[in-house]
Amino acid sequence: MIRYSLLCDADHEFEAWFSNSDGFDDQAARGLVECPHCGSMQVRKALAAPAVATSRKREASAAHQMAEMANKVKAHIRKNYDYVGDDFAREARAIHDGDKPARLIYGEASLNDTKALSEDGVPVTPLPDAFAPTPPKKAN
Ligand SMILES: [Zn+2]
Repeated sequence: MIRYSLLCDADHEFEAWFSNSDGFDDQAARGLVECPHCGSMQVRKALAAPAVATSRKREASAAHQMAEMANKVKAHIRKNYDYVGDDFAREARAIHDGDKPARLIYGEASLNDTKALSEDGVPVTPLPDAFAPTPPKKAN
């Protein structure tokens, strides 16, 4: 049995058990998975990885480890990378083209920007929210 955390289209969170990993897809496709709060059938998995039955303690520890890892990544970026804000795509391209001296940067970019950069061979790594450092305060 696999337990999934599920979300409906109104963002109600609930849990349901399925016999195997295909169980959710199969039952959702047949309209058998329903939000217990509002009855919506627009239900999706809340987590990318199935939450196999574990004790609360192990779940908490995994979440804790994840948070620690995220903090390390954030600290590393803040220490070694320059924040360029919305100029990220332009800066990354200028550095890649040799118009600006090489340095490590981070900032905001749209999905289209990062896609265009990757397609042009500019190495960019989109960060999940949990791993994205808070931008430094702007000097006024
Ligand atoms: Zn709902």
